[in-house]
Amino acid sequence: MTTAILSALAEEQQGLLDLLHQPRRVTRAGREFWQGELHGQPVVLALSRIGKVAAATTATTLIEAFGVQRLVFTGVAGGVGPGVQVGDVVVATEFVQHDMDASPIFPRYQIPLYGRERFACDAALSALLSGASHAGLVRLEGQFDAKTGRGGRAVHHGLIASGDRFVSAAEEARRLHADLSDAGHPPLAVEMEGAAVAQVCHDYAIPFAAVRTISDRADDTAHVDFPQFVRDVASRYALVIIDEFVRTLPSR
Ligand code: SAH
Repeated sequence: MTTAILSALAEEQQGLLDLLHQPRRVTRAGREFWQGELHGQPVVLALSRIGKVAAATTATTLIEAFGVQRLVFTGVAGGVGPGVQVGDVVVATEFVQHDMDASPIFPRYQIPLYGRERFACDAALSALLSGASHAGLVRLEGQFDAKTGRGGRAVHHGLIASGDRFVSAAEEARRLHADLSDAGHPPLAVEMEGAAVAQVCHDYAIPFAAVRTISDRADDTAHVDFPQFVRDVASRYALVIIDEFVRTLPSR
């Protein structure tokens, strides 16, 4: 059973590429895909690209052209839920699109013709990812305290909101959280791809799980924290979490 491992940013993919056995590069849809093995598991590594449409094309190509049978996503996100801090990890249980609004024809946030606002992640795959996140954070213990400004790092589980905006203003983050909460969808974090991949995986009935390291609080300093955090911290998180995850993955 082939597993797709999607990364949002090149810095997060590099460590996995270094670990890949018998790597073969294939170009498709203007994207690079890397086939190979991680800990004996057949995998395809890919960059999602940024934004919902780009990520949907990547996910569709992984399923249609590479025949992957499960899909896992690692990336970074802005923390918008209370207590979701830089350096924490969020394992997604569900995704919603915060910029979907076909009201008044459909309720705000509802995906037209699907009759739903949220797409759920696969429970079994998410449980493995959660275990891998805990194990990964133990492996990284004490390494980044100066960068994240704190000792303990939490693993949260819950709803993540996706949309085609880098949210980098405290007032916007507050409103986004309040509006979604009022509609019954309080998010822990905001990013730009997950809901699109979740929807594609729903269409194909392919198990999907996602983990995001919190890189910023989606506030006025988000763009300042971001590049350095990705390079120094998030890339290490993604590597250890996926390394732990693949070791525990059943082969069928
Ligand atoms: N200049 C950056 C652009 C990254 S866009 C670069 O290419 O290096 C931001 C990425 O991080 C997206 O993949 C998105 O999913 C995630 N992300 C992190 N913090 C976010 C925030 N506050 N709002 C939206 N997306 C965020």
